[in-house]
Amino acid sequence: MFRRLDIADKSGLVPARWDAVVDTTLCTVLSNRYGVCIRTPEHLLAALAGAGIDNATIEVDAPELPIMDGSSDDFTFLIGCVGTRPQPSRPRRWIEVLKPVQVQEGGGWARLLPSDRFRVSCTIDYDHSHVGVQHFEFDSALQTFPEAVGRARTFGFLHELEWLRARGYAKGASLDNAVAISPNGVMNDGGLRYPDELARHKVLDVIGDLALAGAPILGAFQGHRSGHRLNNLLLRTLFADDSAWKWDGAEPEVQRVVA
Ligand SMILES: [Zn+2]
Repeated sequence: MFRRLDIADKSGLVPARWDAVVDTTLCTVLSNRYGVCIRTPEHLLAALAGAGIDNATIEVDAPELPIMDGSSDDFTFLIGCVGTRPQPSRPRRWIEVLKPVQVQEGGGWARLLPSDRFRVSCTIDYDHSHVGVQHFEFDSALQTFPEAVGRARTFGFLHELEWLRARGYAKGASLDNAVAISPNGVMNDGGLRYPDELARHKVLDVIGDLALAGAPILGAFQGHRSGHRLNNLLLRTLFADDSAWKWDGAEPEVQRVVA
């Protein structure tokens, strides 16, 4: 749940749920029935999910979450500083994927498959000599979120940035909060944080978007040229079919941010 501190009454509460997503054009946008929005929640939600937190109230004083360095790294660091504690009165439940669910659109697809653990794999395929095809798989049994995915920054192509700026978007975008790619390659000093940073950021976005399911997912996500829109469409398709998923488990080690 998000709470907009700049809005005094209960209309400032915005649910962090898949069915509150109203736009996915440039980032994920949540809205409540009063039209109060939260923009770009995915990197913070990914940091929370990556820290095992599935129950938190997030207070913000503006409609857009701070982009920080374009990754989840600062959020992960601060969650680590504050610490977490079990919430034994609220047993954790999982959403178990029971059968394959797939969505596709515009040359991209995303699917959820049954799995004994949470996995996310993404393939990107850009017609750009310095990017091309990249693939990354996050396996929750083998890797940790902060190391494998958390530092991967959002990215954009220079020609897209010029197009967006001409239309009033991406005014805050800079080399401090995104990987920028020109026809000559990566423009950022210091280059990339991982050789496959772009594919890893796609995985980060998926983890953030899937956190809107309302509970951790026991299943495997696979995406090919997917994005926020397909991620949300996939959750809507999953929850539209009662035979595709079920509530599962009650684990005592539920955690939340202390303060
Ligand atoms: Zn992102």
